[in-house]
Amino acid sequence: MSISQAIENIETRYTHQPEFVQAVKEVAMTIAPLYDAHPEYSTSKIFERLVEPDRIIGFRINWEDDKGEIQVNRGWRVQFSNALGPYKGGIRFHPTVTPSVLKFLGFEQIFKNALTGLPLGGGKGGSDFDPKGKTDNEIRRFCYAFMRELHPYVDKDVDVPAGDIGVGSREISYMFAMYKNLTHEYGGVLTGKGVGFGGSLMRTEATGYGAVYFLENMLDAQDDNIKGKKVLISGAGNVALHAAEKATMLGAIVVTVSDSQGVLYDKEGFNQEKIDWIKAQKSEDKPLADYVSVHGGEWFDKQKPWQFQADIAIPAATQNEVNEDDAKLMVDNGVKYVVEGANMPLTADAIDCIREHRVHYAPGKAANAGGVAVSGLEMSQNSVRQYQTSEQIDTRLKEIMKNIHDSAADASEQYGQTDDGYIDYMAGANMVGFKRVADALVAYGILN
Ligand code: NDP
Repeated sequence: MSISQAIENIETRYTHQPEFVQAVKEVAMTIAPLYDAHPEYSTSKIFERLVEPDRIIGFRINWEDDKGEIQVNRGWRVQFSNALGPYKGGIRFHPTVTPSVLKFLGFEQIFKNALTGLPLGGGKGGSDFDPKGKTDNEIRRFCYAFMRELHPYVDKDVDVPAGDIGVGSREISYMFAMYKNLTHEYGGVLTGKGVGFGGSLMRTEATGYGAVYFLENMLDAQDDNIKGKKVLISGAGNVALHAAEKATMLGAIVVTVSDSQGVLYDKEGFNQEKIDWIKAQKSEDKPLADYVSVHGGEWFDKQKPWQFQADIAIPAATQNEVNEDDAKLMVDNGVKYVVEGANMPLTADAIDCIREHRVHYAPGKAANAGGVAVSGLEMSQNSVRQYQTSEQIDTRLKEIMKNIHDSAADASEQYGQTDDGYIDYMAGANMVGFKRVADALVAYGILN
C-alpha cells in the first residue's frame, strides 16, 4: 500500500477524529523522499503500523467536589509507540480533551521524542476535566482519582507521563503522591516533579527556553540574531511565559502574550519584572487584562496577537490557534520566523501560507522538544539517584536543541527539500524522527 492509500484509509476510518487525521497527513506528506530511499519501510508496512497506537486505555474518574457532590469525568492514556523507549508524553486536563486530540498529540510525540535522541517512546493522556474555577481541594481530589485509575498502566520503565495544558507541578505532585501510595514505590513514574523530591532543575523552563534556543539556531543559519527582534507570543502559560522570558534575556522585544480571553500588547516589551507579574497573576487565575492598570500597554478582548508588526511569531497556546487568515496577517506584518511552542498550533492552510511566503518555520515537534528532553534527563537522574545542576541541564538542553535543528536542516538538504536557501524544517524533522522509529521497527520484525 502506498502512503497516499494509507492516508485515504485513515481519513475514512477516522473522519470523527479531525485533529488526528491532520497530524498524520502532515507527517505523511513530507516523508515520501525517505520512503522512496528505503523500500524496506513499505515492505514492513511501517506507516500503516505507526498510525495505530499500541493501545488506548480509557477510564471513568469519579470524584467529589467541595459540596460533597459526585462528579464524573472521562480519562484516557494513548500508548502510541514504545519502539525507542518507555511511552512518554504529557497529561492534559481541559474540557476539549477527546481521543482525537490525545491521538494527535501522541502521534506527534513519537517523532518529537525520537528527535531528542533520547530513549523515549511516544504517548499522551488526559481528561475532559476543567480545572478552571476549581479549588485546590477539588484539584487534589481529582488528581488522586485520576491516578487511582491510571496507575496500573504506568511505571518508570513502561509509561512515564508529564504535564501539559492544565497540569503543572501541583497536579504532578498530587498524582505522584497517589502513585506512591498505591504502589509503595518511589520510582520516577512522572516527570515534572517538584525540585527536591525527584524533579529536575530547569524542567519548568525547558519547553519555552528550548523553543528560543531552536529559534537562535534558525537565525544563526540565516546569519542573523535575536537581538532587538520584535516577537509576538500567544498563550500565557508555561511554554509562552518561559519563551518570553528567554527571548527577553537574549535581547528580543516580546510585545504580546495572550490567553483564552484576549491579547495583551505592550509596545515597550515585557521585561523580567513584567513577566514575573504575569506569571503570578496567571497562577492565581486572575485576569491578564489587569496588567494595563499596573504596567500600561493595551488589552484586546477576544483577539489574537497576529495583528501586530513583528519579526518573529511564537504560537504557544493550543492546537489550530493560527488559521490561514492569521498566517496572512503574520506575513503582511513582516514576520520572518514562526516557531511553534504549542503542539500543532497552525492549521494545514496556515502552514501552506507561511511556507509559500518563505517564512522560516519550525514545527512543534522540533521546536518544543526541550520539555520532553529535560523530562528524559529527569528520568536519568531518578535512575542514578543523583541531581544535576541548572547549568548542566541548560547546557544539555542547548546541545539537544542544536542537534535537533542541525539534523532537521541536514535531512532537508539531503532529501532535496531545500532550494533558494530555505530550510524545510518541517520535512527535515519529520524525516529524522520517522527514520529513527522506522529503523527500530524494521529491526524488530513484525512486533510492535
Ligand atoms: P498551560 O496550561 O500552562 O497554558 C496554556 C495557555 O494557552 C494559557 O494561557 C491558556 O489560556 C492558553 N489557551 C489555551 N487554550 C486556548 C485557546 N483556545 N485560545 C487562546 N488561548 C488558549 O499549557 P502549556 O504552556 O504547558 O502548553 C501550551 C502548549 O504547549 C500546548 O499545545 C502543549 O501541548 C504544548 N507543549 C507543552 C509542553 C510543556 O512542557 N508544558 C511541552 C511541549 C508542548 P487560559 O489561561 O485563559 O486558559
